Amino acid sequence: MEQAALDQIRRRLDGDRVHLMTQLADMGVDPDTGNPNGDQFDQGFADSGQNTAEKALVLSMAEGVLESVREIDAALARIDEGTYGSCESCGQPIGDERLDARPVARLCVSCKRRAG
Ligand SMILES: [Zn+2]
Repeated sequence: MEQAALDQIRRRLDGDRVHLMTQLADMGVDPDTGNPNGDQFDQGFADSGQNTAEKALVLSMAEGVLESVREIDAALARIDEGTYGSCESCGQPIGDERLDARPVARLCVSCKRRAG
């Protein structure tokens, strides 16, 4: 891929990452561990009288956000390695359109379809 296109994707991924980190901080979850951030996490629930089930819901949402962060980190690593934009399965270009819709994509459309 062209350097300009890669730079653009990197900026987009960086921006998404910051956004996700903010979401985790708002949830009171430590972005490094995915665990509740002690008092900060409990405090978010203390006033509203929310219960254990709701805490579990927030943690499962946090897990989804963390998964997105990991996907972004992997994509940024591929940009650094120079392998970004190539399908990890068949090595063919993933395609600009697909990458535009899903910048963290690892597989081209046909491999993705095979993988389910
Ligand atoms: Zn492929």
